[in-house]
Amino acid sequence: MRVMKGILKLGKVAGISIEVHWTFSLLLIWVIFMELKQGGSLQSALLNVVLILLLFLCVVLHELGHALTARYFHVSTKKITLLPIGGVASLEKIPEKPQQELLVAIAGPLVNIVIAFILFIFLPIQYYMSLDVANLEALLTTPGLETLLFYLWIANIMLVVFNLIPAFPMDGGRVLRALLSMFIGRLKATEIAAGIGQAIAVLFLILGLFYNPFLVLIALFIFIGAYGENQMVKQSIQLEGHLVKEAMLTRITTFHPENSLEEVIDAIIAGTEKDFVVIENDQVVGILKNHDIIKNSKDTRVPVRALMKTSFQMFDETGDLKELLPLISSQKQRFFPVINKDKRLVGAIDMTNLSEFLLFKANLIAN
Ligand code: ZN
Repeated sequence: MRVMKGILKLGKVAGISIEVHWTFSLLLIWVIFMELKQGGSLQSALLNVVLILLLFLCVVLHELGHALTARYFHVSTKKITLLPIGGVASLEKIPEKPQQELLVAIAGPLVNIVIAFILFIFLPIQYYMSLDVANLEALLTTPGLETLLFYLWIANIMLVVFNLIPAFPMDGGRVLRALLSMFIGRLKATEIAAGIGQAIAVLFLILGLFYNPFLVLIALFIFIGAYGENQMVKQSIQLEGHLVKEAMLTRITTFHPENSLEEVIDAIIAGTEKDFVVIENDQVVGILKNHDIIKNSKDTRVPVRALMKTSFQMFDETGDLKELLPLISSQKQRFFPVINKDKRLVGAIDMTNLSEFLLFKANLIAN
């Protein structure tokens, strides 16, 4: 186990890192506090904690359902993060084929259906159902393994029902988008699914303010998720068929590794460029990031060579702009040199520049 930036790494399953966000501990504390406050014993409080942990094990299995189905379609998953409101599997991308998205989305809830079915076999649920309210209540307030598993059964059913609410980007929303995509195309389908998602989010927000603070968190999660995904799909459709060279910056200042930082700073002040490409013998040898320039600006005599990044990604001018969108918006690298087939520098591209292209050029074609 390793603690990093409020994240507890539990380990890896099938090569996927399983992580818990620190706020998850608040949920456990809250559960213990509520049980003790309502006059419960320490034992029943601990049983509640065990129930939550088992429930989140089911959530991890649910997310693995998504991740392993995605892997079947050659989409990898970096990690699964557990938050108090549930789990998130960070898929590298969402499969674009509607049939694949449908299967990936449905695989999570399917895992919970299987768990619920197994519990159903081993628990005397028909007997529970035959009891009257008073007896059932007495049974369900007696701490014990059977009670615990019964609650876990209910929780898994609730997970299925909750996740299938068609609030994009929850599973139900993805199922809806995939189904709509088969008939009206991905762009329109995403717009409709995101719109329904945001409407449900507003409903959750209102209900949450009156009844349950968790619903407010879930509402925000859905709202932001629906908006972000809608934008991403719109942009990627607008960029379809366009090449990197159509959108790249062509008037750029380059530096030699032996140039001094002072010369770079002069260029920053004289123009609007923030990041630079470093060239030696007609080859791109590095990129100079704005962040590194600022960090080292105390001593302006240092050469560019000492500050430049030598491991970076470049794009070919004939590359597809659509392929580049997820890379540019992933924040790992914000500024990319663009080269031609002879590996010579012909320009550079960043998010600002791509946004301008979307605004002025791609929009005219898509609308
Ligand atoms: Zn899911």
